[in-house]
Amino acid sequence: MKNIASEEDIKNLKTTDIYFWRVNEILRSTGVDPRVVMEITSSSRDIPWIVLAGLDDLVDILKGKNIDVYSLPEGTIFPPKDINGIPIPAVKISGRYLDFGPYETPILGSLSQASGIATKASYFKKLIGNLPLLSMGARRMHPALSPLIDRNSFLGGCDKVSSVIGAERIGKTAEGTMPHSLLLILGEEEGWKMYDKIIDPNVGRIALVDTYCDEKDASVRAAKIIKDLSAVRLDTPSSRRGNFPDIIREVRWELDRHGFKNVGIVVSGGIKEEDISELKEAGATAFGIGTAISSAPAIDFAMDIVSIEGMPKTKRGKFSGEKNVFRCPHCHKFLVSTREEEICPFDNSPMESMFKKIIDGGNVIYKEDLDKERKYVIDQLGWMQ
Ligand SMILES: [Zn+2]
Repeated sequence: MKNIASEEDIKNLKTTDIYFWRVNEILRSTGVDPRVVMEITSSSRDIPWIVLAGLDDLVDILKGKNIDVYSLPEGTIFPPKDINGIPIPAVKISGRYLDFGPYETPILGSLSQASGIATKASYFKKLIGNLPLLSMGARRMHPALSPLIDRNSFLGGCDKVSSVIGAERIGKTAEGTMPHSLLLILGEEEGWKMYDKIIDPNVGRIALVDTYCDEKDASVRAAKIIKDLSAVRLDTPSSRRGNFPDIIREVRWELDRHGFKNVGIVVSGGIKEEDISELKEAGATAFGIGTAISSAPAIDFAMDIVSIEGMPKTKRGKFSGEKNVFRCPHCHKFLVSTREEEICPFDNSPMESMFKKIIDGGNVIYKEDLDKERKYVIDQLGWMQ
């Protein structure tokens, strides 16, 4: 495949914008390579919060370079700006400019897309709550990105992921039901029967029930054929949907009337954030979300010099000087400051210093622990309004 850059290409600055090659050439010719601090901030105005994600790739890009990197912990939920309207730096890098500056393009690309996906997954998880959320959007993005998509969907709050390589990346079992092609090839009832007969009994029995007929009729037939049916899945095309919540209500009603109260209802197919509360109310018990998460808009991170040889210096529109980021342990508000310690102005609590060193002189300190990092996201979602 010709459209994939290798890790070697990325490390050799092949995916970098050419203008960083120019600055490289000029600074090397003039012998100027100052010690700088660069900060990564988002200028988003219209999003309630960002989930920071992508430190796994960031440390791989920067390891072995003579620099120090500080970051908010992976999975930290933060608003673009602090209580005083100052943009919150998510990452801070210090060292000689040429050791890391020319990597701005891949650094920002990694963080922006990973954080965009994790952030969108977190919005869905907040709305869906304790019901299962499956990431199934690998098919909407380039296949080379499947591990990235599923890793960051999981971090942001998805409970399961659908792609095989994505599940391997997070050390879990991939989750899925059955595609329409199975039921078109074998016929609906034979397809359900063979699925139940042939597929590993540890795999949940979820029957797709919208291939040819009315969903409630198919749901009851599937429940009669598969003894331990755990759920039916409705992926009804939008052209046939009419009122999707009402279809769910009918399915729930008929399953209950026929003694299948324990059979859940999984919904999928172009579901957006604004659809969730109505679908939950109607009786959906699990959600498969594809495009909305995998094609989430990237977070618009930018990377700027804020200090040169210890002197505050930056471009217009940015705030100069090396900064620290604090979060209140009680009200969870953020404060950007140049001080080493801060007290919350709202409740006088000593604030927590949020930057952790993730690279020390080129040595990687960050260690991924996705289960712990995902739990950190879920815990913080409890603080969000
Ligand atoms: Zn506070």
